[in-house]
This record gives sequence, C-alpha cells and structure tokens, in this order.
Amino acid sequence: MTAVAERAAALAAPWPASAALTADGDVRVAGVSLTEVARRFGTPCHVLDEGEVRARARAYRRAFGGPDARGRVAVHYAAKAFACRGLLSWLKDEGLGVDACSAGELRCALDAGVPAHRVLLHGNAKSGEDLRAAVEAGVGRVVLDSADEAHRLAALLPAGARQRVLLRVVPHVEAGAHPEVRTGTADAQFGVDGPELTAAVAAVREHPALELTGLHCHLGSQVTEVEPYALAARRLVALAARVRNSTGVVVREVDLGGGHGVASRTGGAALDVARLARVLRGELEAACAAAGLPVPRLLVEPGRALVAPAGAVLYRVVGVKTTGRRTFVAVDGGMSDNPRPALYGALGEPRLLGRPAGAPVREVALVGRHCETGDVLAPAVDLPADVRAGDLVAVPAAGAYQASMASNYNAVPRPPVVALRAGTARLLVRRETVEDLRRRDVGV
Ligand SMILES: *Cc1c(COP(=O)(O)O)cnc(C)c1O
Repeated sequence: MTAVAERAAALAAPWPASAALTADGDVRVAGVSLTEVARRFGTPCHVLDEGEVRARARAYRRAFGGPDARGRVAVHYAAKAFACRGLLSWLKDEGLGVDACSAGELRCALDAGVPAHRVLLHGNAKSGEDLRAAVEAGVGRVVLDSADEAHRLAALLPAGARQRVLLRVVPHVEAGAHPEVRTGTADAQFGVDGPELTAAVAAVREHPALELTGLHCHLGSQVTEVEPYALAARRLVALAARVRNSTGVVVREVDLGGGHGVASRTGGAALDVARLARVLRGELEAACAAAGLPVPRLLVEPGRALVAPAGAVLYRVVGVKTTGRRTFVAVDGGMSDNPRPALYGALGEPRLLGRPAGAPVREVALVGRHCETGDVLAPAVDLPADVRAGDLVAVPAAGAYQASMASNYNAVPRPPVVALRAGTARLLVRRETVEDLRRRDVGV
C-alpha cells in the first residue's frame, strides 16, 4: 500500500465500517478507491460493500436465530429495498430468507439460489401472475391481505397441495419517520381489521389447502425505537387470542415486518437490533402466558437496515452556478436514480471525492439533471467552496430504495451496481443503455 493509504482515517457512519478517507481526499470502501470505481464504471454509479451487508445479516441472525432444524428462517430480507442476484445470494449464504413482493422479486430470489421454502410472498394487491409464480415455485408462505385473496390463492393450488399463509392485520401503531411511510394504521391500505379480519380467517378456513400459520404486521419505515414493535407484538397476541376464541385456530407464527431505522446522516439514530429481539421475546412470552397461548415463532423482515448503510452512490459534477442567493451544484444523476428526496424529503450527506478539500466550505444546493424544480438531492449542504465541474461527489447510506426505485425519467438509462469486497470491484448490474430503452419502444 502507498503512504497515502496508510494515512487513511476511518469514516464514521453513515459510511460502511470499512470506509476510510485517504490523505488525498479519496474514499476507500472495502479497500477499493471510489475514484477508481467512478473511472472504471462511469457515473452515476451505485456501490455496495459486500462485507457490510454480510456483517449486518450475521448480526440479525445472532439476534433472531438462524435456520432451525427444519430449515425455517426467522429473518426475511425485504427485497423491495434492493434486489439483484448477487445481493440475494450473499443473504442466502448468511442464512436469511427473502420477502418478495412480486413475481419479479420472487424470480430474482430463485435465481440467486434462495430455496423457495425460505421465500415469503407479500403485497396488498398481488396479481394473478404473482400468485401463480408463488404456487409454481412452492414458496414457504404467502401473506394474505384480504378474504378475496384467500379465495384467489386457493383456486390456483393444484389438487392435494397445501400452502402456508399468514394474515396481515392492522396493528394500530403509529410509527415511522414520515406520514408516507406509515403502514400500520387503519387508514392505510394494508392488512385487515375488525369484521374484515373475521371474514379473512373464515375465507382461509373454507379452503383445506390453506393453512393459517400466523399473523403479520408492518409498521412503516425508519423506526428507531423498540417500543412501537413491543406494542405491535402485544396487539398481535391479542388478535391471535381473538382468532383462537372464535375459531379454535391457534397461530404459531408472528411476523412483525421491517422498518428498522438506520442513520442516514452523521449522528443519526438507528434501531438497536439486539435489544429489539430481546424485548420482543419478553413481550411475546408475557402476552402469550396471559392469553393462554403457546409462544409463537417470531419473524422479522428488515430491508433498509441490511443494505442502506452498505451502499453509496457516485456522481460527477457537471456544472456550478450561482443564481439569486443560491449556489447550485448540478450532478449527472438525480431523481431517476434516487427519488427519495422528492418523495419523502430524505436527505443524504454528500461529500467531495478524489481531491483534497483545501478550500473553506460553503453552502450549496446539490441538484440533479432532471427537468423538475423538485430534483434536489440536498437543498443546503456544505461542500468545498472551489467545487467545480468534473469533481466527484459521493452520497453514503444509499443502498436501499434507490437503485430499486430508479426510473427512466427523461429517458435516462439506470446506473450500474458494483460490489466491493477485499480490494476488488465487480459489476452486479450493468448500466442500462439508450439501446435497452429503444428496444421496448415497439410501435408507431
Ligand atoms: C417495506 C416492507 C418491509 C421492509 O421495510 P424496511 O423499512 O426496508 O425495513 C418489510 N415488510 C413489509 C411488509 C414491507 O412492506
């Protein structure tokens, strides 16, 4: 290693644990220079630190348990945060299952070698294609969202087949960083409640091919406190007691979904996963003892917490200008590769990359390339005052809900995803091309 690399200083969260700042202003992740990644793969570019993802998966296993004697897993990765074969195969290696929301995410899990019995199919409006793909693959569990769905699923099962199902319920718990990401309340479109719950349980019981193994809920996103989950656990046990009292069915599983918060900026709060597991076990034991129910298996579905801190996105500055009282730094990506600032007001913490930041900082707006006033990646961020066209900017905590939410707005092809491990970079998902986009445009 060069003298420069030896003088590298660790970068704090939200950067991955392996991230280090070198004396010449570069950032290395997993021993790989991000400047070098930008040169080799172009910008914008998503990078994922494989070691960080695996370490996070192991921490979840330690907290919630690995595969049991029958191969069942407690931790299912919510593939909607980001899915590609490479990432899902790392998580499979680490003993996790996958929560898939569509036939496409299910296909990706199967392609990654995830055994079908470790896959859980989700969705409040599953298409016929989604349900058929799940039945054909033989997924471990389908999480039903309505009585209608129980009938639709049962109609697809071949004679003699049996499908385990969970029922998504409304926990009436308000949690999550932003109203748009709260999903555990009665005015969101997810889960069943009251008479709809009774009807859904009845619908499942009408079909001997369906086996109701548990209840499910999901509170929302970026929850950093344990207490909302503890409350949800108690509510689910109360509903399980109601189901047992009215039908005699005893559920054996409780799935509390995901939403585990991570820091997206320096000093930001994160959910303590080990404490979550400990508290939830205690809550389930106490509530079940009081209700005279056996303690169910506990399932969780983290998405963001497994991948967000492992990812960063690299942009090239294409122009700097001051109009009115604001200085705008425009980069070669934006809301097409990261719609989260526009959707949720989510803000990253960009930093200049690849040269020593000698100059004093000044406040600038980091904006994207799209024809929208709302295409602002960070409205007020401190960057070196001499930031100029050609500079590189990196935004950490970008591994979740960015590549997976990317669009082709302005007919901009989507960026590649590059894995970093032990000093080497390899392509997981190639850059889309204008030719890819043209190929779909088949008529006049
Ligand atoms: C989105 C979602 C998750 C994952 O949420 P994160 O905030 O990424 O942890 C888990 N379960 C369900 C049902 C979801 O909709």
